[in-house]
Amino acid sequence: MKIEKLVRPSVRGLKAYEAKEIPCKVKLDANESPYGYDISRAKIATNRYPDPEARALRDAIAKTHGVTRESVLLGNGSDELISCLITTFGGPVLHPSPTFVMYANIAIALGEKDVPVALNSEFDLDETAMLAAIRRHKPKLVFLSTPNNPTGNCFDAGAVLRIIERAPGIVVVDEAYQPFAGDKGYCTFLADYPNLVVMRTLSKIGLAALRLGYMVASTQIIAEVNKVRLPYNVNSFSQAHALHALKKGTLMRKAIKTIATEREAMMAAMSAMEGIEVYPSEANFIMFRVADQAAMHAALLKRGVLIKNLGAMVKGCMRVTVGTPSENKAFIKALREALGNGK
Ligand SMILES: *Cc1c(COP(=O)(O)O)cnc(C)c1O
Repeated sequence: MKIEKLVRPSVRGLKAYEAKEIPCKVKLDANESPYGYDISRAKIATNRYPDPEARALRDAIAKTHGVTRESVLLGNGSDELISCLITTFGGPVLHPSPTFVMYANIAIALGEKDVPVALNSEFDLDETAMLAAIRRHKPKLVFLSTPNNPTGNCFDAGAVLRIIERAPGIVVVDEAYQPFAGDKGYCTFLADYPNLVVMRTLSKIGLAALRLGYMVASTQIIAEVNKVRLPYNVNSFSQAHALHALKKGTLMRKAIKTIATEREAMMAAMSAMEGIEVYPSEANFIMFRVADQAAMHAALLKRGVLIKNLGAMVKGCMRVTVGTPSENKAFIKALREALGNGK
């Protein structure tokens, strides 16, 4: 029996998401926070299913956004919510390119039409092209990651709002990196746009181990997406630990500030180097262009520093995550050596 023949055609051509564990001293490849948090000592009844509605945690999250519990839906990472959204609304699924790969991967796996629209030369939205593609394809879902992964920049807010206004379907603003950005994000627009969904995750702010993402939207959208959410998708440990960590909001905000300050220092040091081009960032990572991606990746790894080679996704570019001050120093030193303009 040929198993391959049994596999859905849309899945046959996919590649599994690669998250290779490369041993290194300084790990700056996955946009994780260098700062973690104490875990909850709450007693968990291991024989019982988790609270299926995660009421306490949803209440805590709802409070931070000034909405009610019914406007919040939790996912096993925001990846799961992307999957739930596409399962609920279907395609076409439209998004700029390059961006986070899961929008396309999940759309394709589910057999939906995927419509990538190229960003302009500054990696901002090409508003004319986006609006034309929206008129032509009438997407059920548009995904906009701002700040965008892997480019690091925020999209022009006017363009984002016009896309939300003109789109015939749902527009998901993915704010995985918003805590590191200067603006306040798009939650304030939820009341104005019934087709807007704002998605967040705890993964980039020190709690990647928990796998916890959430979306904020109208109660009607939440109720529809909740129909396809698998029961008990957020386990008891993640619910308890996330609730515990959120109560330490001050600590988390301080860490986020430190990372943003470090990012600016790294950008300044990198911009002064010859042989690379550094792109603006409002996230916890920086994208930069090099002469030879593979050679740069290897040269840094030889010096103990692991960063992300963006390969064909953004030709010529690399992405480095902001770490602790000492990790960042090690990266800057290794980069200077790799470029041959240091000792
Ligand atoms: C990392 C990332 C996510 C996924 O977050 P999880 O909550 O860990 O699944 C979503 N969107 C963007 C843009 C990301 O970079």
